[in-house]
Amino acid sequence: MAYKITEECTACGLCEPECPVQAISEGDPVYTVDASVCIECEGHFDEPQCAAVCPVAAAVPDPDHPKK
Ligand code: SF4
Ligand code: SF4
Repeated sequence: MAYKITEECTACGLCEPECPVQAISEGDPVYTVDASVCIECEGHFDEPQCAAVCPVAAAVPDPDHPKK
C-alpha cells in the first residue's frame, strides 16, 4: 500500500530527503506522495521512512492505492 500525506502536514520538509525513491515532493499547501512511485520503503528500510520521521504523523497508508 502506498503512503500518502494528510492535511496534518506542516510542510516541514523532513520526509522528502528520506524517501529512497524520491516519491515525495513539495506540494501546496502540503507535501505529496506519488503513489505510483512509493514502494513503502520495501527493500530499503524496515519501516516507511516518511511515517518514521514525520513529527505530526501526517504520512499514513493510503487505502486508495493498495499494493500493486
Ligand atoms: S513509504 Fe517510503 S517509499 Fe513511500 S513515500 Fe514514504 S518514504 Fe517514500
Ligand atoms: S515530515 Fe510530515 S509534516 Fe514534514 S513535510 Fe513530511 S509529511 Fe509534512
